[in-house]
Amino acid sequence: MNAPVAPHKLLKGSTGDWEMVIGLEVHAQVTSNAKLFSGASTAFGGEPNSHVSLVDAAMPGMLPVINEECVRQAVRTGLGLNAQINLRSVFDRKNYFYPDSPQGYQISQYKSPIVGEGEIVVELDGGRTATIGIERLHLEQDAGKLLHDQSPTMSYVDLNRCGVALMEIVSKPDIRDAEQAKAYVTKLRSILRYLGTCDGDMEKGSLRADVNVSVRKPGAPLGTRCEIKNMNSITFIGQAIEYEARRQIEILEDGGAIDQETRLYDPNKGETRSMRSKEEAHDYRYFPDPDLLPLEFSQSFVDELKAELPELPDQKKTRFVADFGLSAYDASVLVAERESAVFYETVLEKLANRARDGKVAANWVINELFGRLNKEGRDIAGSPVGAEQLAAIVDLIGEGTISGKIAKDLFEIVWQEGGDPRALVESRGMKQVTDLSAIEKVVDDIIAANPDKAAQVKDKPQSLGWFVGQVMKASGGKANPQSVNDLLKSKLGI
Ligand code: ADP
Ligand code: MG
Repeated sequence: MNAPVAPHKLLKGSTGDWEMVIGLEVHAQVTSNAKLFSGASTAFGGEPNSHVSLVDAAMPGMLPVINEECVRQAVRTGLGLNAQINLRSVFDRKNYFYPDSPQGYQISQYKSPIVGEGEIVVELDGGRTATIGIERLHLEQDAGKLLHDQSPTMSYVDLNRCGVALMEIVSKPDIRDAEQAKAYVTKLRSILRYLGTCDGDMEKGSLRADVNVSVRKPGAPLGTRCEIKNMNSITFIGQAIEYEARRQIEILEDGGAIDQETRLYDPNKGETRSMRSKEEAHDYRYFPDPDLLPLEFSQSFVDELKAELPELPDQKKTRFVADFGLSAYDASVLVAERESAVFYETVLEKLANRARDGKVAANWVINELFGRLNKEGRDIAGSPVGAEQLAAIVDLIGEGTISGKIAKDLFEIVWQEGGDPRALVESRGMKQVTDLSAIEKVVDDIIAANPDKAAQVKDKPQSLGWFVGQVMKASGGKANPQSVNDLLKSKLGI
């Protein structure tokens, strides 16, 4: 059954509205110390050809041996994508020649992948969500890398990446616009990071996507697609989709037809260009790799991995909403990155009264802390205000020692200078004045100084706010706002 399609963007053409149809093939490097079929290291940034076993270099007579850790990671990922786990899968040879691939073929999975259908719920603007189907996830080898800038006359090859395990995660053509595509990659990356099955570092190439785009009149059958290869930036994925869809609409409205082809996105020009057409497409002559038995494992192997899965973003979000009354939006902001969720949970652990202040703490993490970090271009790991300090600030508000307004000043001091918030409140005299007689004195003074306003307030109860403001100001923000309100009301007779 297909999930209902979330509201999405249509593109206007001269013949009316067009709908985009997008499917993504994401390559995610498996987090594992060794390669998929050899014991060589997967460490990033080593000397060229320093992490290459005889298997990776395809020396004659070498036999691949499956790395169980990579299998475990693929199964864990499948479970995190709510997907079908196939207890039997097959490794095939995908045959093609390229100088970065000494075997002359890539070991991949074709007809029988390790993981079948699943789905991901993605978060869109304004709290909307969309459910995107997963077609399959299979394991395959990465290729090496050609270096063209080492010599004027030759190309060199670095086989360090050769044989590193990749998960190819293929979506159904359920994505309907650039926003959804970006949200899909963001959510997928977040799930992989929570699981610890891929570091999701797009700059290092640990996560990259082939983006398939077609257009159609809403409700019409699927159009011919083009595939934009090897995208490693979420922003560029969005730009490439918009450009490519408009390019196709123009061709169709001019009476032309779309050639199914592979294209590349040029971020400098903001356009896609043809790399190869379908006629030139490879004929890979897939066949089961005779060096490898079918991959088989038991349901109990899967069940054990399932039992040990960490809490994933959707589950965390549901729990934050249920336990602390957060809005769905706030909860999704907190869980979007694992580090943010961990920070918030550490704050929760340190709070004196979690049930009472959990929601206030979320506001502080999102608005004050994330707001400030964003402004300064820092991430949570580099936050000058730690979870324990933030929890102390929230405690001080919750117990009535400081007002929300003073808390902002306190936050600023902790951000700039560090220190224990509770001790700072003492040493800098920031405590809220709850002593009624002290507040009463200020209230009396302000009323006495403004007799005309005091006389009017009976007819204009809204101007009570002005008096509250004056008293708060005179007290340096330290008067308890509730007491000020109560006192003013009784003194002014309203
Ligand atoms: P191939 O085996 O040629 O790569 P697939 O059928 O596996 O083709 O599809 C690859 C990707 O293209 C999938 O993510 C799928 O969702 C997407 N896709 C398929 N048809 C379309 C289409 N008409 N428009 C956009 N994307 C599509
Ligand atoms: Mg493909």
